[in-house]
Amino acid sequence: MSSLLVDNIGELVTNVPAAGGEGPLGLRRGVALLVEAGRVVWIGPARYAPAADRRIDAEGGAVLPGFVDSHAHLVFAGDRAAEFAARMAGEPYTGGGIRTTVGATRAASDDDLRDTVGRLREEAMRQGTTTMEIKSGYGLTVADEARSLRIAAEVTAETTFLGAHVVPAEYAGRPDDYVGLVCGPMLTAAAPYARWVDVFCERGAFDADHARAILTVGQAAGLGLRLHANQLGPGPGVRLGVELGAASVDHCTHLSDADVDALAGAAGTDDPTVATLLPGAEFSTRSPYPDARRLLDAGVTVALATDCNPGSSYTSSMPFCVALAVREMRMTPAEAVWAATAGGARALRRTDVGLLRPGVRADLMILDAPSHLHLAYRPGVPLVRQVLHNGVPQCRL
Ligand SMILES: [Zn+2]
Repeated sequence: MSSLLVDNIGELVTNVPAAGGEGPLGLRRGVALLVEAGRVVWIGPARYAPAADRRIDAEGGAVLPGFVDSHAHLVFAGDRAAEFAARMAGEPYTGGGIRTTVGATRAASDDDLRDTVGRLREEAMRQGTTTMEIKSGYGLTVADEARSLRIAAEVTAETTFLGAHVVPAEYAGRPDDYVGLVCGPMLTAAAPYARWVDVFCERGAFDADHARAILTVGQAAGLGLRLHANQLGPGPGVRLGVELGAASVDHCTHLSDADVDALAGAAGTDDPTVATLLPGAEFSTRSPYPDARRLLDAGVTVALATDCNPGSSYTSSMPFCVALAVREMRMTPAEAVWAATAGGARALRRTDVGLLRPGVRADLMILDAPSHLHLAYRPGVPLVRQVLHNGVPQCRL
């Protein structure tokens, strides 16, 4: 069995403070890491490193768990650069542009969609993302939602059925009829390719009754629950997600005290509902950022994700989101790095990624920088030099 030793590590972020590391990130220095068969099999003092078939010299760079991007919409066609330009010239974001992408997505071939998904997945990988959730939601017909998920499933196990992204134009004024389609034939066609079900619970999209109906039948079909909630204004989504035991409620930009209390109450349970913050969306829509400090100070489990999509957040960069979280949402660099790795893993209810200890997947990144601090300290700089995914180096050294 071929083994790979990563040594000359400047700082190892383990996210396992109990293993003797420093601070919440479980930082360790002077250690090396051994990979076999796609798993981390040993971490210990470099001078005791076992012999290995191959070696990667981290050259004093920081080594971190790969980013876990728990919220992305990659299955689409076309772009909306003109809409972005109009927004930057003063037009508000309403979410209505989703229908533009729906039209382009329906008209695209499978291979066109596959090319876009593959290109964005690779782009994210180069920036350290080793686990990526991918949603449907730009097909909005039975066939187009099923094919979106089938294509997403070719590159990730974390696929999410988002038939309830927006009511498509042909169902305008008949949201109940569309929800019936989502809960019936569309769910049946989508479920074989999906791990999760999600609803855009927002004024102008789906209300709490619709969201509850869709999530309930999705859960009965064996899917885990996630929710787009409280992005554009206050609403019932966050509390509904907590009530139903969703793995994550995403956006959380407009929260009441009751919403924060509900999330904080869930934080003490075995499977908490994570608050996933998506600062790329606020950046790209020039909107106020979520109050991350309020959530963290209340004890809520927080994740960071890109929300990569062609309308409101066309970035695949987790380092960019970390930098935004630190600069704009007052998270500490350690909190932001944790949220982008271990937090994302919690949001996907994964225990084998987002941390580095013997037994977990060998998903990690090596930085061209001595410390995780540089991810926020040097924004916009391509600091990720190497990525191991399932123990396999992704970049040429
Ligand atoms: Zn989204």
